[in-house]
Amino acid sequence: MAKESKLTKRANDFSQWYNDVIMRAELADYSPVRGCMVIRPRGYRIWELMQQALDKMFKDTGHQNAYFPLFIPQSFLAKEAEHVEGFSPECAVVTQGGAKELEEPLVVRPTSETIIYASLSKWIQSHRDLPMLLNQWANIVRWEMRTRLFLRTTEFLWQEGHTAHATEPEAEEEARLILDIYRRFMEDWMAMPPVTGVKTDSEKFAGAMHTYACEAMMQDNKALQAGTTHHLGQNFARAFDVQYQTAEGGLEYVWSTSWGVSTRMVGGLIMTHSDDNGLVCPPRLAPIQVVIVPIWKSDEERSAVLEAGNKIKGDLEQAGMRVELDDREAMKPGAKYFEWEARGVPVRLEVGPRDIAEEQAMMARRTGGKSPISFNGLAETVVTTLNEMQAEMLESAKKRREDNSYRNVSKDQLIELMDGEGGFSYGGFCGTEECEMAIKDRTKAAVRVLPDPEFQSDPSPSKCVWCGGDSKTEAVWAKAY
Ligand SMILES: [Zn+2]
Repeated sequence: MAKESKLTKRANDFSQWYNDVIMRAELADYSPVRGCMVIRPRGYRIWELMQQALDKMFKDTGHQNAYFPLFIPQSFLAKEAEHVEGFSPECAVVTQGGAKELEEPLVVRPTSETIIYASLSKWIQSHRDLPMLLNQWANIVRWEMRTRLFLRTTEFLWQEGHTAHATEPEAEEEARLILDIYRRFMEDWMAMPPVTGVKTDSEKFAGAMHTYACEAMMQDNKALQAGTTHHLGQNFARAFDVQYQTAEGGLEYVWSTSWGVSTRMVGGLIMTHSDDNGLVCPPRLAPIQVVIVPIWKSDEERSAVLEAGNKIKGDLEQAGMRVELDDREAMKPGAKYFEWEARGVPVRLEVGPRDIAEEQAMMARRTGGKSPISFNGLAETVVTTLNEMQAEMLESAKKRREDNSYRNVSKDQLIELMDGEGGFSYGGFCGTEECEMAIKDRTKAAVRVLPDPEFQSDPSPSKCVWCGGDSKTEAVWAKAY
């Protein structure tokens, strides 16, 4: 019976609710290693579906996968000054191997720019070798002090793209292209609509010229940085001497980018959609999209409903859906409903003897609503329903984001919002680090992005929220994970 105990309510304790959702849906578990997590099959499947979709988008735009070593010579990290300063505090370092002290300590990759540039300097000789468009799917280690399942763990899974180009505009275009891919993925697959834009200098990636980001709003009105792309300029090319011969015969450093999304997105998916009954998963990323629960009393009924259930399962699978028939004997239908709801299965089909007589099944949507659907054309009905749910989830996430976004806020409003309900606050910004830090100190809110044109206010704010000086750019403030 303990299994049927209620989850912590989202409104009472968001952070405990989040953990409860993960545990109940069997997505992940704590590990014996502090700060690390175990991703369970139901959680890993969501990641696999994310990987498949993104991998296709990367390949469709000319990127190829490769794999570089987990260990990086410590001296490599030191070659780019900002980079080493940014990452050193969170590095895990191996000093011993095979019971011997190593001549040079090895860093467990916190990101792979340095080891990849060591290879690029060998592979890139001529303008004909460019652009070089690489991606790797890998694990990463960053020694985190305060960890949360999926959101911040010492080891996590991600993809990191690394590209080299002949010119600055090409690198800029690449950073923008990937930002757009991330955004489309988050909208079309995760139903999680981010605000995009550029980071301020204090928030950009260590060693980058510009960092672009996707910032999504969670149900507690906090921002989650869900993906970033970096235009690295020639910083790493200079540090690792990656030069190419131009068509005219001169020597130039390459312009480069790097970009990544991680298992953190699974946390974003959970916090965007789930409710007090557990996980709510967008259909396109649901490990199981449809569960069929047969209902019977007698043995005779049992064989009839199982036969019908198997037939429906076959039809749905034929139509490309991921389906499970829950024929467990020892469990009551109500308990099964409860469990599949907590696991976030988008559609449940209940099939009892009376349904069979009427040639219909009862269809329950995870996002609410229950209605009978005919056996005739059942697969099409379910496909349509899943597509509708996917679209509705995006719309409702967008609406929630906009309902909790505030335009042209004043200083007092910004303070009041961040002391209270939170949300995305758009306002004028003078661009100085003094104002940025003062706001952070007082409100705990950071500039999430300087928003892209389509998110900007009209008219654009003329004065800085904090100092009242002329606004150089609009900014979006929020508290963040
Ligand atoms: Zn200011």
